[in-house]
Formats: sequence, C-alpha cells, structure tokens
Amino acid sequence: MARLEQKREENIAGNFYVDSTCIDCDTCRWMAPSTFSRIGEQSAVYEQPSTSSEEIKALQALLSCPTASIGTLNPPQKIQQAQNSFPIPIAHNVYHCGYHSEKSFAAASYFIQRKEGNILVDSPKFNPALVKRLEEMGGIKYLYLTHKDDIADHQKFHDHFNCDRILHRDDITSTTQNIEIPLDIDKPLQFESEIVIIPVPGHTKGHTVMLCKDEFLFTGDHLAWSENLNQLIAFKNHCWYSWEKLAESMEKLTPYSFNWVLPGHGRRYYSDKETMRQKLKECIQWIESTLK
Ligand code: SF4
Repeated sequence: MARLEQKREENIAGNFYVDSTCIDCDTCRWMAPSTFSRIGEQSAVYEQPSTSSEEIKALQALLSCPTASIGTLNPPQKIQQAQNSFPIPIAHNVYHCGYHSEKSFAAASYFIQRKEGNILVDSPKFNPALVKRLEEMGGIKYLYLTHKDDIADHQKFHDHFNCDRILHRDDITSTTQNIEIPLDIDKPLQFESEIVIIPVPGHTKGHTVMLCKDEFLFTGDHLAWSENLNQLIAFKNHCWYSWEKLAESMEKLTPYSFNWVLPGHGRRYYSDKETMRQKLKECIQWIESTLK
C-alpha cells in the first residue's frame, strides 16, 4: 500500500496520490494518462479522475504499479471492478496482464487466448486476482519469456498452471535452469501455426521476440515506441550484450509484417502494416546513425 506520510507534494489535491517510493517506471502514465504525469523525476497525479472510466483506469494503474506507490485517501469503491477488468483487452485475443513486477523491472506482460492453448508472454506478479481471471480464461499452456530480465514469478506460474516455459538457452541462468523448453536457435522458429519466435541478440545474448498471426510482435526489451521521439526505438543505455548485434537483429525483422509492437518497457505501438514497415526502417536508420 502507498504511504500517505510519503505522499509527493507534486500531486494535485484529491483522492488519488503517488508516494515517494515511485521508481519512475512509466506504467501509470501510459495506463492512465489523464491522471498521472511525470513531474520531477517521478510520477504524480496531475488531474484527479472525473469520470467512471478514468477512475477505473487510475485503479488499473494502482493495481499494476510494481512498487505499490499509488494510493487513495478513501477506500476505492470500484477496486473489485478494476480487478475483474484484468487482463485488459488490447485487440482480438491479446490482453495486457497488468500487475507489473518490480522483479521484472516493471515490464509489461501479455496473455494470448488461443484454442491451441493460451500463452503468457513474460511474467507479471503472481497476483491471486489475476491468477483467478487467467484460470477462468482457460489457464496457461506456455509461458514464453522474451529474455532473462522479465521472468518475475515464472516458477509460481509454472507450478500453478503446469505451463511449459520457453526461453533461449543463452539467457538461462540459475533461476531458469529447469525450464521445459530451452531454445537453441539462431534462426526464426515456426513454433506453432501462426507463432514464430525470432532470435534478436542485442539487449541480451538470448533475447527473442514472438510474432503472432502476422499481427502482434511481442518485443520484450528489443523494440518499443517512444512518445518523446515519435518513433520506434531500442534502448542503447540499457543494452547489456551488444548494440552492434542489436542493430543486426533489428534488420532481421524487416521481412515480417505486423500491426502491433507490444514491448516489455516503453510504449506500445499500432499502425497499418505499411506504416509499421516505414517506422521500422526509420528505427534501423536511427540505430545505424549511432554506430558511425
Ligand atoms: S507505476 Fe508506480 S512506480 Fe511506476 S511510475 Fe507509476 S507510480 Fe511510479
């Protein structure tokens, strides 16, 4: 729970507030942009929710905050409604799980509902309300991990749902050595119909991305949208393996068509496929300009 005695002075007066434990992860700002903003080096409430929909969004952000830094002065009446809204639909059969974990550096995770078996993409917090909702939606067949950083509560999800965890062998560490499906690939793998896993070494050596139905690209920490730059980006300051390799890996995405970039960190992006192709090209040109 957020601590009232640590409430940031930058919050506008009213029910919702952010306390000083905020780690500036950006989650609340994109989940509820009409309520939260960056003021100083952390988030704060710049406008109190004024409609029911804004209140639900603010509560979804409160539940997703990895450090429980968002609070309300009064007990939130709609908290159960907000809990039941997870996972939050994005498009078709793809959902945002919310409940970001500090263990995954606040990365977003996703849920794909499919008749062949559901897929959890990266790990949210093992939260009982979310787990119940995922049970109701058919459980989890696979837990696909884009890379070694965003694994959070993977063991709890495996133990509860008996799901097979997928991670590239080059990103396996002591905490993931028992995963069920280690990937030994340096080329794209048609994992199941409509699911392709593409190795993209760079951010980490064993980073992969997953393409679903030629529509959704789950990018982990490889590729994201920047609101500030108005373009697709990669994270040069958080590239742990090789920026040069990351540049090569980005090129490998050009043969593919997709409408959505759904990242762990950074903002998601949607466009028609032609615009996406152009945005990816601009991103590659930008990365290449940093290599000169
Ligand atoms: S979600 Fe929490 S930690 Fe992240 S920016 Fe908002 S208040 Fe800060």
